[in-house]
Amino acid sequence: MGLDITWAVDWVRRGAETLSEHRVELITLDREIGDGDHGENMDRGFQAVLPKLDDLPAGSTPADVLKLVATTLISTVGGAAGPLYGTAFLKGSAAIAGESSIDAAGVVSLLEASRDGIVARGKAESGDKTMVDAWTPAVDAARAAADGGASAAETLRVAADAAAAGSDATIPLVARKGRASYLGERSAGHRDPGAQSTAYLLEAAAAAASN
Ligand code: ADP
Ligand code: MG
Ligand code: MG
Repeated sequence: MGLDITWAVDWVRRGAETLSEHRVELITLDREIGDGDHGENMDRGFQAVLPKLDDLPAGSTPADVLKLVATTLISTVGGAAGPLYGTAFLKGSAAIAGESSIDAAGVVSLLEASRDGIVARGKAESGDKTMVDAWTPAVDAARAAADGGASAAETLRVAADAAAAGSDATIPLVARKGRASYLGERSAGHRDPGAQSTAYLLEAAAAAASN
């Protein structure tokens, strides 16, 4: 079964819930290799989306929900993550524009466009210890699953699991982009906060799809 507006709204609600639950954890991660605001930034941004969900007009599509997230994050979240996630949701929205429901191929298009948007904006490569290190394994796993005949929900499940593994894999890396890169070798041994928030957001997407 395809993923419709109900899924998209549930994704955002669950995303806001998990980012709120993990706010302090993300702050702590960012304090270790950044300036300690990532949990605050993400929680504030997603909380700001919630009331706007109630104002979506009848007939809205999943793309409309993602666009609402994008514009809200861009206007309420500062720093690196606001524009990066804003671009991700904007490009993801454009990739599924006009579709009332998305299938497994749609999930791949959405994730890939989001990742490509982050890369275009932030210029990070795989292994630079950023959120890209969660997004790219998610895209690759999603594509393999969809090509193998997985449903949209199954595709999101493997994407979320791959993002979580990708976040784990940032721990030994030396940061080459963002604030953490100022630490050089001392950034090794710490998880990248943006990779972890990506893992939480994709977990929320998968959980909403399996409902
Ligand atoms: P800031 O570093 O401005 O305080 P946040 O703390 O909200 O912003 O976000 C930090 C996260 O942003 C990092 O953990 C990393 O995942 C991500 N990030 C930073 N720079 C880049 C970049 N150039 N490309 C991709 N992701 C990046
Ligand atoms: Mg920060
Ligand atoms: Mg900051």
